[in-house]
Amino acid sequence: MNTPISKKINIQKVDKSRIDQVDFDKLVFGNVFSDHMFECDFKDGVWQNPTIKAYGPLTISPAAKVFHYGQAVFEGMKAFKDEEDKVWLFRPDQNAKRINKSAARLAIPEFPEDLFFEALTTLVSMDREWVRKGPGNSLYIRPFVFATQAGVGASPSTEYKFMILMSPAQAYYTGDIQVEIAEHYSRSANGGVGAAKAAGNYAAQFFPTNLARERGFQQIIWTDASTHEYLEEAGTMNVFFRVNDTLLTAPISDRILDGVTRKSVIDLAKRDNIAVEERRVLVSEIVEAAKNGSLKEIFGAGTAAVISPISAFSFQNKTYEIEKQEDSFAAKFKKELTDIQRNLSEDPFGWRFEV
Ligand code: PMP
Repeated sequence: MNTPISKKINIQKVDKSRIDQVDFDKLVFGNVFSDHMFECDFKDGVWQNPTIKAYGPLTISPAAKVFHYGQAVFEGMKAFKDEEDKVWLFRPDQNAKRINKSAARLAIPEFPEDLFFEALTTLVSMDREWVRKGPGNSLYIRPFVFATQAGVGASPSTEYKFMILMSPAQAYYTGDIQVEIAEHYSRSANGGVGAAKAAGNYAAQFFPTNLARERGFQQIIWTDASTHEYLEEAGTMNVFFRVNDTLLTAPISDRILDGVTRKSVIDLAKRDNIAVEERRVLVSEIVEAAKNGSLKEIFGAGTAAVISPISAFSFQNKTYEIEKQEDSFAAKFKKELTDIQRNLSEDPFGWRFEV
């Protein structure tokens, strides 16, 4: 606890923090980075030279395989500060496992979990001033791995770099969002890389999402690639539908990211005696529920936004508005989750991890 001294990691502390230059009230998500970053290289079959040093540019060959074949995966997680200045991570074990699951799918060597934890906790300890307390405030943490071997042969890289960056964040989305249900483009396919946090999954979403934006929608809810009949997930969030008092969400598959927020919402719902069905959800069933008034809420669940209420969805050029609920499940789960994250409530599931 609270010790930035590590036996394994080479630590090069900055002489002077940049924190005074940052206006924490005017943060744009993901644009400002803390003083330090973690870096570790995979060469000759081993991860080596784990180092924490000043955040700054890298020197990398233009032939590095990541630029040509996109071998890159990442994670997203957050640190929170409570009223007593204690710093907490939320379910970091899940991210440590998931980055390796993503890596395996992209033929990237796994990163040792114990080193992941040591790097993460040392880095967060060193930059703990960058974690601000108060509602909505967090330090967003971005672990990632990419192929560094120079060479344009289309084969897996023999060299990689694993890094962790950290970026102070305020609330991610402002207000409710309107979404479009995908009918033409797809995010992922059976047997594909949808379940991995692969960089390319996000690149592939930008163009269709831009088209949706031009039509006035901030996000797309993706449907299954083969029939477009079943609802899957949004760009960076899993999605829940409340029909009457039952929550529906797509089951985890090789097309969907196994979200930490999603599984936490499911656990909270079960604890709170709210019925949850993890099953294939037809677009037609949600359209019908919107028409007959039984669709009470749609919300997204993900680390960055926590819970994002969705106020309208569009399908086949028709927009369906969803009325605000007095007893909103989205608001309830958001409070329950953020209270656990920020040490404002009990932690019955053991999700908090003190740094
Ligand atoms: N789906 C996708 C495609 C995502 O990128 C994310 C963000 N990691 C999520 C769902 C939500 O996952 P989590 O709750 O673990 O952040």
